[in-house]
Amino acid sequence: MGTTDFKKFLNDSASQEAKKTINILPSKYKNLLKDYIFKFDLGTTLKGDKENVGVVQKIKDKKEIRVASSWSFSREFILLHEIGHVIYANFVAGKPIAKIWAKLSKKYKQKNEKGNEEETFCHRFAANYSQHPPTMFGKTTEDLASFFKQLEKSN
Ligand SMILES: [Zn+2]
Repeated sequence: MGTTDFKKFLNDSASQEAKKTINILPSKYKNLLKDYIFKFDLGTTLKGDKENVGVVQKIKDKKEIRVASSWSFSREFILLHEIGHVIYANFVAGKPIAKIWAKLSKKYKQKNEKGNEEETFCHRFAANYSQHPPTMFGKTTEDLASFFKQLEKSN
């Protein structure tokens, strides 16, 4: 395969995997993701952004989620993390459930974890829905699982 073909192949297979990942999510979340375009960068960090492995962005009226090929985390995990930001903005921030999350996030924030309650949410959201969560987050515990169940049902 030439470089362009290979790039296309990787992007196509990434899109297929992304579809599978998204299909596992509750329909409430899937509906929200319908207007998003998913893009996969081949670098270990995002193209033009050495600090990040994933991003949710709006370019004009196009909503896009971009994911890099990190060595540390699977694309599945990064994709779910970025989706977590969309879920947080729509269903957690400013809602009554945010208070419940604030308590849980104190419990589950890791020592070396940068960022705020939202970042902790995205990590745990990703670990909860991932088929192969990174071992550093361990298995989703009962309180986290029931929080995410509650969130699936909340408005
Ligand atoms: Zn994030």
